[in-house]
Formats: sequence, C-alpha cells, structure tokens
Amino acid sequence: MPAYAVEAARALGLPGRRVTVAGLGVSGIPAAEVLAALGARVTVVDGGDGERHRAQAAALEPLGVSVRLGDGATLPEGTELIVTSPGWKPTSPLFTAAEAAGVEVWGDVELAWRLRESPSAGTAAPWLAVTGTNGKTTTVQMLASILRAAGLRTAAVGNIGTPVLDVVLSGEPYDVLAVELSSYQLHWAPSVRPHSAAVLNLAPDHLDWHGSMAAYAADKGRIYEGNKVACVYNLADPATEALVREADVEEGCRAIGFGLGSPRPSELGVVDGILVDRAFAPERHTTAQELAEVSDVNPPAPHNIANALAAAALARAFGVPPAAVRDGLRAFRPDAHRIAHAGTVDDVTYIDDSKATNTHAAEASLAAYEHIVWIAGGLAKGATFDELVTGAAKRLRGVVLIGADRALIGEALARHAPEVPVVDLDRTDTGAMAAAVRAARDLARPGDTVLLAPACASMDMFANYNVRGDAFAEAVRDLRAPGTGQ
Ligand code: ADP
Repeated sequence: MPAYAVEAARALGLPGRRVTVAGLGVSGIPAAEVLAALGARVTVVDGGDGERHRAQAAALEPLGVSVRLGDGATLPEGTELIVTSPGWKPTSPLFTAAEAAGVEVWGDVELAWRLRESPSAGTAAPWLAVTGTNGKTTTVQMLASILRAAGLRTAAVGNIGTPVLDVVLSGEPYDVLAVELSSYQLHWAPSVRPHSAAVLNLAPDHLDWHGSMAAYAADKGRIYEGNKVACVYNLADPATEALVREADVEEGCRAIGFGLGSPRPSELGVVDGILVDRAFAPERHTTAQELAEVSDVNPPAPHNIANALAAAALARAFGVPPAAVRDGLRAFRPDAHRIAHAGTVDDVTYIDDSKATNTHAAEASLAAYEHIVWIAGGLAKGATFDELVTGAAKRLRGVVLIGADRALIGEALARHAPEVPVVDLDRTDTGAMAAAVRAARDLARPGDTVLLAPACASMDMFANYNVRGDAFAEAVRDLRAPGTGQ
C-alpha cells in the first residue's frame, strides 16, 4: 500500500471505521481488500448465497473481513460508511436505510479518488474524464493514445476495464489518467473533480437503474463538477451543453464545444477534411489550429470523428501539442467489434459493429455508409425502433432480422420503409448468424456494405456481443471459402 494512500486513509478516519461493502463482485472484493489493509473494520454484504459467494467469502475472511451472505438489504449494525459496487440501484433498501441513518455511500471510484494522494503532498495525477451514452471506451482509448504520443505517462482506466482503484494504488507515477466513468459510477462519486471532462452524448439508456431521464442526465452531468480547465460538450447534442451550464466549476474553467462543422471560437470542428482547434489555439479569434486529417481517424465514420474531437479537446486542455493529437489518432486501433472490417467479398464490405447494442449506437454506424444491408435484432431492452428506421430508410438496400425481438424492428420497417426487402430469420441455433450473413450477401450489390449493427443486446442468442461479432466474422470468412473456415 503506497504511503500517500495510508496517509489519506488516516485523514479520512478509515482505520478502525466500520465500513460496509455492498456487493461481493468485481469491484466489491478489491474494495474490501483495500479497506481492510487500511485498517477499516469491513463487512461485505451480498444478497446471493451460492457456491461462488461462499468461495469468495472464504478468501476474504483471513484478511479480517466479515461477509454476510443471503441478505443485501439490511444495514449492518454500527455501519459508519458504505462502499458500493456501481451496479447496485440507488433505490436498494440498504441505501434507504443508510440515508435514514445518515451514513454516506461511496462507489469504488469515490474511494479511489479519496485515496489517490496524501493530503500533505497532493501530487496525484489529474484525471481527464469521459462519459456519455456511447463512445466512451473509444474516446478514452484515443485520448490515452494522444497523451502517450505527447510523451506523458498515462493509462486508460475506469469503466473501460482496469479499475481506477487499482491504478491509483499501484504507486506508478502517472502524469495524467484518461478515465472512463459510467453514469452508475458518477452517481456514487460525489467528490471527484476532474481536470477536464467530456460528456459525449446523452440518449435514454439504463433508465431502470436511474429512475428517469432527468436522473440519468444529472448523474452524467456530475462529471463536470469542479472541472479546472475545460468542460467539453457535443455541439450536436444540446443536452450535453445544458449539463455544462448547470455545473459548478472552478474559476476560469471554459466550456468547449466539439462538432463536425466549421468551428467558432472555443470549439473544435472539421474544415475541408481537417480536424481543427479554435479553442486552445493561441490566435483562436482569427485563425484555427490544424490538428489532424479526417483520414487519421480510425475508422473515419462521423460519430468516430466526433469521438476524436472530444479526445483532442481534452488533450489540448491538458496542454498537448497539435502534432501529438495527430500521432495519437494515427496510432489508435479500435477494440474488436466496433465498426471492425470483417472482410470484403465480391466487392461487398462486411462490417462488424456488434457493440452497437442500443439504437443510438446503431444509428451512428448506419449513418456511416451509403448503401447498407443491415443485420439487426436481439434483445431490445424496451427500445423502440421507429426513429432509427426512419433515419436509415433511404440507405437500406435490405434488412436481415435475427433474435428474440426482431418483430419490433420488422414492424418499424413495415411502417417507415415498406419498400425495403426484409429477411426474417426465425432461428436461434448456432448456425443462425451464418444464415443471416448468407441472406445479407444475397441482398447486397457490388459496392454495398453489410453491417452488423444489431441495436439490441445479444444475450438471447450469444453469450455476449463479442461472441456475436466473432460468429459474424467467421460467417464472412466462410463466404470466401465455404466450409473451410478460411
Ligand atoms: P461505450 O464505452 O460508451 O459503450 P464504445 O466506444 O465501446 O462506447 O462504442 C459502443 C458503440 O457505440 C459502438 O457500436 C460504436 O459504433 C457506437 N459509438 C461509438 N461512438 C459513438 C458516438 N459518438 N455516438 C454514437 N454511437 C457511437
């Protein structure tokens, strides 16, 4: 445990404090371990009581952590602080009880923020933070790539995979962190104060957790609280700008817009295929600073250019020079299943955007191609498809529907794009994706794009969106060399 964290914990009064950790999961276990190592008296509670829970409990007990299984609702006697996994709903009875007892609730991100530096030395790496409904992971990775290109020691952390707590306690001397924060994490992170932050976009998602769109937006907006240099918002999404207006920021912090058009002062945008900065350039009132070319963005789809501009804005707010923005964007490679090129067969391009698990994401990838055979469907999670289909109708050569809720998309197509041919694939077996790809091939003409952008979750047919995307890519390989898997 680094000395600064021990000192910070002492200042917070953690040693000897009775802390309840809510949830014996991926964030709860490390939180319990860290808290115990810092001398807190830790009880983990979890509503589950299966074999996995018991094994995990047995591993924690030697550290002095007590674990209460089979009851995640009752507040343990004497609790002075709760540290929760981000997945727990704010309406959970445990939190109602905590509120009544005046007990504070922190998420693992809040815990990390509080332990990141000693109160006396105060030299921890600042955070450049990103949230939004879609594009968070991509933007944070682009940002980290840009920061690295500038020679800075950095890591892409948070909701993206590596927990912030791990990185903060690693003792590594980072210059700056690129932090992805989900709305859940922000909800439970009341004192996080990023150097600068971006909200990429705001579309209805996870409303069952937050309770309402207003509550979801308010949690996302928390990311701007206390920003020091820049609050970065999306010019195409006025809701993000509204969040900046509501935020309480440090004196001198600026609102910086990004968008695909020609930028005004205090904005980043695009002019003649060039990403330009009129926010941090020295002569921003009269000139624009060239950052990179659109073709440096990988893939150069409109929504991804927006992601690149958001990443560039955060990097520029941190003082990164223009050349590093270009080099960082060029070096960036997107994660699998996010508009990945799965192959070109008979002059038809096959694109795997299996990660498009909601309509907002699918809308972005449908906007990126001219003539599309669209493979869609899966678990709709309560979504409606009218707007998505209306927006894409002109570009659809045909549609292949798969999965449990495909009828919802089929009905929207019948209402708004009745002339578009639809193949309704009524099968969920392991060969279903190959059949979908073959049906799409039959609908496509040379020069078209076959796009897997399901607008739905995958769990009705696949273990997750990775498996769904892999099945698509394999089916595309099979088109080239049937049966060989080559
Ligand atoms: P997140 O981490 O927010 O889930 P990802 O970067 O993993 O975001 O992308 C998720 C999905 O959203 C992908 O299918 C991608 O095509 C789509 N997407 C990425 N950026 C945007 C954006 N700015 N607007 C809309 N959709 C986007």
